[in-house]
Amino acid sequence: MALSLFLCVNYTNVDLRILRIRIIILHELGIVQELISLAEQEILRANFEGRVSEVTVKVGRLSGANPEALRFAFEAVVSQSRLEGASLNILEINPLCKCSKCGSEQEIDEYIFVCPACGSHNILINGGTELNLESLEVEDN
Ligand SMILES: [Zn+2]
Repeated sequence: MALSLFLCVNYTNVDLRILRIRIIILHELGIVQELISLAEQEILRANFEGRVSEVTVKVGRLSGANPEALRFAFEAVVSQSRLEGASLNILEINPLCKCSKCGSEQEIDEYIFVCPACGSHNILINGGTELNLESLEVEDN
């Protein structure tokens, strides 16, 4: 809804930098709402009545989610949820690049197409795309 309203804006009168930030935050807002909804389902399933103090999520560097925007979005909506007052802990996960030619294995922080050690294109990238609810830290009433 918010996004479709947004696309009607006359772009020539908009600061594109601010527009880009807003679009990023809309993207992360959707992700955060999904994570909060998952956490609420887990709380319900566990029949837990206390307070949630911390939410930990794993965010892969290739997931397309921006940690800073996730924090901003979380702060914006958490008070309207069962997780009110909880803080957000983000574990950023680096993908692992494994080279079939030289055997090197190393963590990378962005998508690459050649082995950083030998320049071979024969590489496999593992992980780094996760976006998971990892754990909830809770306090009894
Ligand atoms: Zn290599």
